[in-house]
Amino acid sequence: MLPFESNYLAYLLAHPQQQTSAEQILSNGTKIRLLGVGAIELEPATLTHSSRAIVLSAGIHGNETAPIEWLNQLLDDLLGEHLVISEPLLLLWGHPQAMIAGVREIGTNLNRLFNGAHKHGVQDLEHQRAAELEGWMDTFYRRYSFRCAHYDLHTAIRSSVHEKFAVVPYTPQRAPNLEQFALLQDCGVDCLLFFHQPTTTFSYHSAIHYDADAFTVELGKVRPFGQNERAALRLLDDRMRLLICGGKSQRQMPDVDRCRWYQVTDVINREQSDFRLNFADDLANFSTFQSGDCLAYQAEEPVLVDDGPKSVVFPNAHVQVGQRAAILVKQLAAAECARIIYG
Ligand SMILES: [Zn+2]
Repeated sequence: MLPFESNYLAYLLAHPQQQTSAEQILSNGTKIRLLGVGAIELEPATLTHSSRAIVLSAGIHGNETAPIEWLNQLLDDLLGEHLVISEPLLLLWGHPQAMIAGVREIGTNLNRLFNGAHKHGVQDLEHQRAAELEGWMDTFYRRYSFRCAHYDLHTAIRSSVHEKFAVVPYTPQRAPNLEQFALLQDCGVDCLLFFHQPTTTFSYHSAIHYDADAFTVELGKVRPFGQNERAALRLLDDRMRLLICGGKSQRQMPDVDRCRWYQVTDVINREQSDFRLNFADDLANFSTFQSGDCLAYQAEEPVLVDDGPKSVVFPNAHVQVGQRAAILVKQLAAAECARIIYG
């Protein structure tokens, strides 16, 4: 039997160090396994109708509470048999210790430690956690011969011109996944960022190792537990429930008029301890800069925008030296979006 009947999040925050594995079968035949701290696997009664092995992760950054709470509610509805999955599902809560502390990270940014990066450097809490999360994902995906999907759910530190957006990992060998882009639009995510190089994020890890349809999905602004409005994630909730229950969306193609698509062009790393951004701390994500504008100072040298206009996303001057302090993106024209969609 599982050691909780509902509200796994409360159990998780009360037992962040260790959880003994346990298993339970619901009356509808769904098998639920608690694998360890923050990891729960669900298998439908019959796999014949399944087509995908789906991973939903939240709380890779501990203070990004909206998707953490959403995932908990989803699990409650599964435990209460208000919905029945047709696809195998792995639910991961990334960083319980940081959730308890109410912080993004404790030692290292967990979302820079995947794709094996956790093997290097000081083995702190996050390094161990990345290895653990990779391990559960690996076992899960290898068990099924289905197409893999992974939605890694986040919220952003600052406000954003586009409230919701998703990062598309760099997989140049693959054709653009139009059906997935339509699914993201159904979730209220019209804005996509096509990344331009390999990284060590969780979604890149699943995309590159398991050929998963994988995205880092940003769902609004960071708020403390209990202060999120459920209505803000309604579209995501509806679409994800449809997905895990094997329902089909009406749309297989993204709506070109709604596309706000950007190519990532530059990564600005904090290379010096005196690195500073040349704009206000509360500047919104996707704020636009022109060619020649000064974005930051690195050892008193200005960092200038070239080939503008470009927009700045995820700026954070307080990262560790050597880490990413911002990315720059360039919006694709409507004609380019149409070319990607219609060929
Ligand atoms: Zn995050």
